[in-house]
Amino acid sequence: MAIIEIKNVAKSFGAFTALHSVDLTIADQEFMVLLGASGCGKTTLLRIIAGLESPSTGEVWIGGRRVDQLPPRERGIAMVFQNYAVFPHLTVFENIAFGLRMKKMPQAEVERRVSRTAEMMHIEQLLKRYSGQLSGGQRQRVAVARALAMEPDVILMDEPLSNLDALLRLEMRAELKGVLAQSKTTTIYVTHDQVEAMSLADRISVMNGGRIVQAANPVEVYRNPSARFVGSFIGNPPMNFLPATALGDGKWRVAGTTFEGPKSQAAEFAIRPEDTSLADHGLRAEVRVVEPLGPHTLVTTTVEGQPFRVILESNATPRPGDILTVRPTPDRIRWFDPSTQQALQ
Ligand code: ATP
Repeated sequence: MAIIEIKNVAKSFGAFTALHSVDLTIADQEFMVLLGASGCGKTTLLRIIAGLESPSTGEVWIGGRRVDQLPPRERGIAMVFQNYAVFPHLTVFENIAFGLRMKKMPQAEVERRVSRTAEMMHIEQLLKRYSGQLSGGQRQRVAVARALAMEPDVILMDEPLSNLDALLRLEMRAELKGVLAQSKTTTIYVTHDQVEAMSLADRISVMNGGRIVQAANPVEVYRNPSARFVGSFIGNPPMNFLPATALGDGKWRVAGTTFEGPKSQAAEFAIRPEDTSLADHGLRAEVRVVEPLGPHTLVTTTVEGQPFRVILESNATPRPGDILTVRPTPDRIRWFDPSTQQALQ
């Protein structure tokens, strides 16, 4: 059992606060992704859980044991960090076997685990090479294999696929997901790649400015962002936002069109680009840029001067200057409080 509990953890570097009072519980065997823009505090949080950094305040518990005063090796975790500490003077085999040898595991079991994880990471043909002779992407895969070979209760990974080319990255992502789903490992995985986050996570913690803004399953984060930031960060392209004027009784005027919305004083209207269609009535959108992307066409328009993107079928070919009438799908419309930036309804 390896539940991870982060209780009221804050971290300051001098006058700079990198984490503000983070509370998060990661369930046994859960795959949790920490997602956010560069500098939001993901790596700092991971390093605190690993024991490479100590929190300014707060506690870290792993498997019901308080660990924030313990050195990393006593926390029962395996890690893969960005600077994947692979030993250049050891072969790939010995690098993967390193932790197993420390545990004095029998040779036959070492061989079984090394070959299994090397195969998983597609590096079985490199086992005899010295790690100093490998490319960055190969070294990174050795680091992942070394962590997996430990069959740990907890595995912490910081951008473990960042040095791979796009195709290999896609392949490794599916491989990792398969492997970790079969193991009984609790995983915390840091990335700024939202597709990777959506693909791998049981839950995503979206971070901004040293805080967790929303922690929920990927579909929930995508469909029901709890805050404007999440809608503006998740999705490629992200949500569209338009100002709304209250007409009373839950009716709102948005760019000349009336919508049903929350019964609040003020609200901002939001819709994802794919949750729109062309119709006879709706928002008047002037086409600026048309990008045929293969499966669909991304059209950047302006609605009353505000940027507004729509995704159309690939056979749609509007031209810059055209006026489209765009209907937001009613049950996909979301509303945010303009002052608190939190979701309404
Ligand atoms: P990235 O995706 O770029 O790795 P991140 O979300 O992982 O970003 P962190 O590495 O956790 O971000 O850093 C959070 C903030 O804390 C950043 O503004 C960073 O500059 C600052 N920071 C991190 N480590 C230190 C340190 N040792 N001293 C001072 N500031 C630090």
